[in-house]
Amino acid sequence: MKDGQTFNAQNVVSSTGIFNTYEKLIPPSVLERHQLHKQLKKVNPSVAHACLYIGLKGSPEALQLPKNNLWIYPEKGDNDSIVDRYLKDPKKHSQWFTFPFLPPKTRVGLSDIPPKYHRYNHLAAFDLVSQWQGTQWMKRGKKYERLKATMTKRLLEVLFKQLPHLKDKIDHHELSTPLTTQNFVNYKEGEIYGIDHTPERYKQKFLKPRTPIRNFYLSGQDIVSAGIGGAMFSGVVKASAMQGKNLVKKIYHSKK
Ligand SMILES: Cc1cc2nc3c(=O)[nH]c(=O)nc-3n(C[C@H](O)[C@H](O)[C@H](O)COP(=O)(O)OP(=O)(O)OC[C@H]3O[C@@H](n4cnc5c(N)ncnc54)[C@H](O)[C@@H]3O)c2cc1C
Repeated sequence: MKDGQTFNAQNVVSSTGIFNTYEKLIPPSVLERHQLHKQLKKVNPSVAHACLYIGLKGSPEALQLPKNNLWIYPEKGDNDSIVDRYLKDPKKHSQWFTFPFLPPKTRVGLSDIPPKYHRYNHLAAFDLVSQWQGTQWMKRGKKYERLKATMTKRLLEVLFKQLPHLKDKIDHHELSTPLTTQNFVNYKEGEIYGIDHTPERYKQKFLKPRTPIRNFYLSGQDIVSAGIGGAMFSGVVKASAMQGKNLVKKIYHSKK
């Protein structure tokens, strides 16, 4: 640890993501011995993200919020070309937006979130904010705040186009940028879904719980697939590898 303390364990598991694990936690000499640094070159971080957190005045019922997520694609074309165009020139092009509503008691596990808070996600190029890399959260300066205000305005405009009656119902909003994600969860380019989801990635045999380092295991979304479901399932796969038992089969066949 930073303060010099040492903790010993028979087995060690890292679920901090493949880049954090290999680039920051494992000593370079161990990486080299097992040629792990070469493996990292075969994968890339997935795309960064920004999120506008919105507090609305009124309950979802009173505001007549839809009980579904909105997926908004502002430009014509297929998803891949929209994303490519955007990443090449994020100031000129638009990208997709999702607006997940949280109607009370309809989303398992999230029922304790006050119903008036909503999340509005969108894809955001890391390049937009990379010049503020290394600055402190909440103290990144006026230019950064101006960029956040522009991004917020743009997101709200898209939202109001879909739901114009929310225009005077915004109680509070706060935008997170890729730097926020980097700051709080330590993903190197502000991505929330770990490594990129390309066919190449899914062919990589090193993305599995067992590693060449004895008693050292990997878990988390990078070894199965993105998202909460992928990360949870990676826990089952990792436990199977550690115990030498097919726990997937056991869970699959267990009685509810
Ligand atoms: C705003 C937001 C909204 C999201 N919405 C959804 C959604 O609706 N549905 C969905 O499926 N997924 C969503 N996700 C993505 C989801 O949170 C991730 O896919 C999931 O949490 C990945 O789980 P994980 O255990 O692999 O990694 P994480 O949950 O990212 O956990 C990794 C942990 O490692 C820690 N860490 C990093 N570096 C170090 C280090 N050097 N030392 C010690 N610890 C370290 C981090 O602090 C973090 O706690 C969202 C993410 C965000 C940020």
